[in-house]
Amino acid sequence: MAQRQKVVVVGAGPVGSLAALYAANRGHDVEVYELRSDLRDPSTTPLNFTRSINLALSERGLNAMRNAGQPKLIDHVMAATLPMRGRMIHGKRPNGDLYEESQDYDVHGRSILAIDRGGLNKRLLDILEEIPNVTFFFNHKLTGADFRRNKAWFEVRKEAGAEQSGREIEVGFDLMIGADGAHSAVRYHMMKYTRMDYKQEYIDTLWCEFQIQPQSPQGGMSKFKISPNHLHIWPGREFMFIAIPSEDGSFTCTLFAPAAVYEQLEADTQGGQISKFFDRSFPGVTSLIPASELVASFHQNPHLPLINIKCKPHHYSSSVVILGDAAHAMVPFYGQGMNAGLEDVRILFGILDKHALMDAASAPEGEIGFSAAANSAASQRERALAEYTAVRIPDAHAINDLALQNYIEMRASVLSPVYRLRKFLEES
Ligand code: FAD
Repeated sequence: MAQRQKVVVVGAGPVGSLAALYAANRGHDVEVYELRSDLRDPSTTPLNFTRSINLALSERGLNAMRNAGQPKLIDHVMAATLPMRGRMIHGKRPNGDLYEESQDYDVHGRSILAIDRGGLNKRLLDILEEIPNVTFFFNHKLTGADFRRNKAWFEVRKEAGAEQSGREIEVGFDLMIGADGAHSAVRYHMMKYTRMDYKQEYIDTLWCEFQIQPQSPQGGMSKFKISPNHLHIWPGREFMFIAIPSEDGSFTCTLFAPAAVYEQLEADTQGGQISKFFDRSFPGVTSLIPASELVASFHQNPHLPLINIKCKPHHYSSSVVILGDAAHAMVPFYGQGMNAGLEDVRILFGILDKHALMDAASAPEGEIGFSAAANSAASQRERALAEYTAVRIPDAHAINDLALQNYIEMRASVLSPVYRLRKFLEES
């Protein structure tokens, strides 16, 4: 349908990998450039990238994968998920009793899915690797781009057997897809070519990961210490602790709290304040994670910021488009950052296909020369990318705003009597 083009994808995260799959499925020559080494290779993966982040995968992301033109992708991905039918709110009653309250996400019992981000990424790379018109370039960092001449430069960071990195290569392309995350180099270089509105905001919250280990065999029939079919929340009004289940029976947990709380706890090298803080703020957590592990994780795991980015446009001319976090990094409280990025891919290729079809229908009979065909492909792409920006930006900005608002819902509103009454009335 579409004319064969050279598509360069920058970033082999979940969004870049899916974009490569969509482009390959249309017969394009696809090259994927990734700054890091192949995350499936245990001997070269840097430690900070093996940490598992558990994500909520929802229909928005699933639908994008279902439409990738690879029927086995969705089964491959689904096999590594756990359904979460609602959130489980943990708290303490005035009489000191602990309670758990399940709040279903959907009256029809539909679920969102827990999945390990690295695992999902590996599964996408596995499928891509089987496709002949896709080539991977790991350890390649985008360092420059000329979007008028369709040329980009990559630094080769580490080559097998080489002592030094730093060699630079030049790569040409018809279309570059920038899926290189929140600190996108593609976006940075694109700004030199287009009048981009850009806003980034760090919220006053840091996050740090903890683990609830699987139940020991004598502890019970289930390998899970708490329900595996919920996203668990310990709301703390100004901060919160959440837990998402993993297939092995563990839970990946995250503490979200203002920087000032972290600063106070960082000063506590003995750990007494940290376990007291957890006992006071997140009742029951210290019976799931021993105090020594809580303290060790707090001090060993990084305390990371949360960024919210909006920009406009998401493309330049016919040569480049940014997707996923590169275009709209958002705080994680709506569980939609990756899902929205995967949806970007489906929408972008839907629009590219539509323009290719429209042009095919209106093309005159007979053959046209090579350069005329290339020009017409470029102008078709330019129209499609402009439509993509126009269609996608209002939705991307809306989901960024919803994500920010949902932090208040998760950490505080779920506790309010008004919220509970509203839920009760909705459900009865
Ligand atoms: P990334 O995953 O950041 O991938 C970008 C890739 O580009 C990386 O591999 C990077 O190495 C590479 N790269 C960077 N620079 C260059 C360069 N110069 N040259 C070449 N390659 C480069 N989303 C959800 O949908 N559901 C959730 O429940 C959820 N929970 C989250 C919880 C937390 C704590 C956080 C922090 C995020 C969460 N998210 C969630 C958001 C989700 O992680 C991101 O939206 C998603 O990873 C974005 O994917 P991406 O492919 O766009 O970018």
